[in-house]
Formats: sequence, C-alpha cells, structure tokens
Amino acid sequence: MRHFRIAVLPGDGIGPDVVREGVKVLRAVERKLGGISFELAEFSVGAAEYLRGGDPLPPGTVEAIKAYDAVLLGAMGLPEVRWPNGTEMTPQIDLREMLDLYNGLRPIRLFDASHTPLKGYDAGDIDFVIVRENTEGLFSARLAPAPEDAREATDILRITRHGSERIARAAFAEARRRNGKLLVTLVDKANVLPSMAFFRRVFDSVAREFPDVLTERFYVDAASLFLVQRPAHFDVLVTENMFGDILSDLAAGLVGGMGMAPSADIGDRYAVFQPSHGSAPDIAGKGIANPVATILSVAMMLDWLGAEAAPGGDLIRTAVARVLAGGRVRTRDLGGETSTVEMGDHVAEAVACA
Ligand code: ATP
Repeated sequence: MRHFRIAVLPGDGIGPDVVREGVKVLRAVERKLGGISFELAEFSVGAAEYLRGGDPLPPGTVEAIKAYDAVLLGAMGLPEVRWPNGTEMTPQIDLREMLDLYNGLRPIRLFDASHTPLKGYDAGDIDFVIVRENTEGLFSARLAPAPEDAREATDILRITRHGSERIARAAFAEARRRNGKLLVTLVDKANVLPSMAFFRRVFDSVAREFPDVLTERFYVDAASLFLVQRPAHFDVLVTENMFGDILSDLAAGLVGGMGMAPSADIGDRYAVFQPSHGSAPDIAGKGIANPVATILSVAMMLDWLGAEAAPGGDLIRTAVARVLAGGRVRTRDLGGETSTVEMGDHVAEAVACA
C-alpha cells in the first residue's frame, strides 16, 4: 500500500466548493485503484485567514505544507480584502516564489465541441499546454517600492540564465512526456526587448539538448493571433511569467473558460495543484461553480506523485471526457444547469464505473 499525504488549502470564494469536488474524485480514484491511499490535512489560507490572523499565508502554514507530498489549493483572495495600503493580496504568487515553483503548467484541452466559441473544432482537437515561467519576468517587479515620483513609474522585466534554462528544459521534458507532436513553441518579444532576446538565446541553446523535439519561435502578439486562428497547431508553448498569465486565460477561453483550465505550479521539491481561476466572488456560495478545472488539477497531482498514483490521472481525464461528451452535463458557465456538486458526483461515478 502506497500512502500519500496531501495538504488541502480550500481558500476563498468558490475555492472550498470546487476543492470539495476535487477531493470527492480523489477518493473515488483511491477506491477504484486500490494499493494507494491519501491522508488529507486542511489548512486555512487566503483572505479569510488574513481577516482571522492578519496574514493570508502564515509562515507556519508554509512550513507545515512542505512536509506533505503535494498541495491542493482552491483559490485565494477577495477583491474587498486588501492590505492596509490598498493593494490586493496575491498569496498564490507569494507561495510560488517561497517554494520556488518555477514551472507553471497550464493544460488546455477541448472536451466537447459545445464548449468552444470557435467553429469546426471537436473534442480533442485543441490539446496543448502552456509552460509559464513562474518566478521572474515582469512579475518580479511587483514587490518593488511604490514610486516616489508622481510623474512616472517603471517595472523591471527580470530574466536570468538560470530561470530561462530551467523553464526551457521543463518545456522540452513536457513535450517528451506528452509524446504527441514533440513541438515546443517559444513565445517572446525578442524583436523589441533585450531581456526577451536573451530569453530566446538561452532557449536556443537548451533546444540543442533535445534534438528529437521540434521548435518554433513566435512573438507574443502573433502567438495570440495563432492561438485563436489555429489552436490545433500547438503542443507545448513556453513563455515568460506575464505573457503566460495572459495567454493562459485567452487559451482557457478557447475551451470553455476558467472553469475548464487546470494548473500545476511545480518546482524541484514541491508542487501546488490548483484551478487556473481565482476565487470568483461573483458566483461564490451559489453552488454553480464549475469544479472541472480543480478535478483536472487533481489528475495532474496524481501524474506528478509518480508511477503508483499516475494511473489515477488518466482515470480522471477519461472520466471527465466521458461525462462532458455530447454536452448533456454542463455547469452554468458552459451553458447548462448542472450544479457544482452534481458535476463532482458525475465524475466520481464515471471513475467508479471505469
Ligand atoms: P484572479 O485575479 O485571482 O485570477 P479574477 O478575479 O481575475 O481572479 P476569476 O475569479 O478567475 O477572476 O473569475 C473570472 C470570471 O470567470 C468570473 O466571472 C468568474 O465567475 C468566472 N469563473 C472563474 N472560475 C469559475 C468556475 N470554476 N466556474 C464558473 N465560472 C468561473
């Protein structure tokens, strides 16, 4: 029997609702596979934790979760809960930096033709992953002191050789793991920004280590166009932090929206699995949030936990595909009436019946 310990951080807004369904499906996998078991421990984080104790991400919690095999996170933050100086809290970004979770994996897959606003695409036609650099880039400017000069402000886009090499390697490794088109697309702005030209040079040198993988290079503006015009072309895209942030929302829009977009933030030691969406306060507590992004994030967690757990990842993706096929089972965001709990029940049942 292989035993895994998972830290569960439900967080704010719809976080607890969607995490509950993710855990339901995880338990279904545990029952189905046998031979693996999960011990779950819940921790309080986010805006509610800030209101309780003054810190959305208490240092004791960050230390404690390091002892777990993986972290499952819902969403953190609420628009009205801010630091005393008025800025919004971004504990999920803090967590990435504290645990050095440099590899932001955002898979995008179309599960049913009815989910996409594009014409002529069927289930499986859109299937790629964005590999977002998570620890530097333009986001590294976020902790800089507020400008004293009232006339201008500057943010620095920081790119290091170390950061660029490791994210490029992660992208090539992901292409090999997927074993599909074996294509890595670099997305940058090397025609304008010296930092991005440097990012490209490092990518080019890492690419030579992976002669079996095809490469191409697009500027971020062209990549945005091609993602909409021919999304079926892509396999693995690798990009800077801020570009990855923007493109992953655009890409989620191609396959049904934020409720369909899972993610994993992975480092060399730790990993956090969470839906790409935020706390969605506009629909919190209504029972209508789509839990599929979280359920698919649980699948990514099982992939990452290694050979004993990995069959559970495929089991979940197959179950999700079966439930969503034909568009009969749809949450509100996908144009249907299925509730959060019902969607979780359907997927758990499909896992059990697989
Ligand atoms: P953040 O800045 O933390 O990413 P945000 O405020 O930009 O958060 P989200 O919380 O992701 O955005 O919500 C964006 C929109 O998508 C909202 O209208 C929200 O209701 C919708 N949305 C997000 N997640 C889901 C979900 N799981 N199911 C249905 N709709 C969702």
